[in-house]
Amino acid sequence: MTAEIIDGKAFAAGLRERIAEAVPAFVEAAGRKPGLAVVLVGEDPASQVYVGSKGKATVAAGMNSFEHRLPETATQQELIAMVEQLNADDSVDGILVQLPLPEGMDDKAVIAAIDPAKDVDGFHVVNAGKLAVGEDALVPCTPLGCLMLLKDALGDLSGMDAVVVGRSNIVGKPMAQLLLGENCTVTLAHSRTRDLPAVVRRADIVVAAVGRAEMVKGDWLKDGATVIDVGINRLAPTEEGKKGRLVGDVAYEEALGHVKAITPVPGGVGPMTIAVLLRNTLVAAHARAGLAPPR
Ligand code: NDP
Repeated sequence: MTAEIIDGKAFAAGLRERIAEAVPAFVEAAGRKPGLAVVLVGEDPASQVYVGSKGKATVAAGMNSFEHRLPETATQQELIAMVEQLNADDSVDGILVQLPLPEGMDDKAVIAAIDPAKDVDGFHVVNAGKLAVGEDALVPCTPLGCLMLLKDALGDLSGMDAVVVGRSNIVGKPMAQLLLGENCTVTLAHSRTRDLPAVVRRADIVVAAVGRAEMVKGDWLKDGATVIDVGINRLAPTEEGKKGRLVGDVAYEEALGHVKAITPVPGGVGPMTIAVLLRNTLVAAHARAGLAPPR
């Protein structure tokens, strides 16, 4: 069987193009550009890179990007005051507080301060609750991106057996809700799951979101399964002075012999996250302006 390699990079580029094409109609109707505010606390190098790429992608899509930085020494009250200021700012449609926050700050309290209508990360309990009861919600970017790739690869997912490995609030849980919404029979596996290989072997769809390099082996996969690998793990470098290779949570080479389709790492799920963030910002902007959602 020749496995299809799901090209998340190309799909994300197409999505970003469609978003950029939809922005002028919003500007025409609302009299302003959609705006995304990203707040970064501290100097974490990886976070600085993410915030930089989010800002660039936002501007490239024709939207306003507002970048706010607070020093490592900022207090939680200062951060929440900034979020409240952004809640009140009409030119801001989306607010994203870059995680992880410095030690001592409570993610939950900060996320709770974001206006749910501007919560483009989809982490607020109001949006998580709406997703759970099947109402229109702002949905976390990574799992929504995974669902888009799955629907593109497989079409109708109805009736399929889906196993999601990992139950974080950011990826695993919303992924399970989304698949349930598509009428899959969903199993949500985690570190206490008994006989994980047997559980995974049942699945037509496997979403791996664990954070353990190449944990899901080729022979855990049913022949013809479709695999979405969310994991991003850096292996130890093999040469001094060089960075180690990036791998997913699935043993990719082994999996190729079993699967119908699979996302590579890098170039699979990774590029989808920012593209969906832009989509969520455009959706939030339409809702806030009282306009019908973009197609
Ligand atoms: P978390 O660490 O929050 O969650 C990991 C989950 O995996 C937990 O539910 C944990 O179970 C489960 N788990 C851990 N060990 C095992 C095991 N041996 N067997 C079965 N399940 C296990 O991670 P995230 O959800 O935030 O991220 C997961 C991965 O996805 C990471 O590699 C991360 O880098 C990547 N990621 C990629 C993104 C992108 O592509 N843009 C975005 C977000 C994440 P338990 O709950 O029982 O502890």
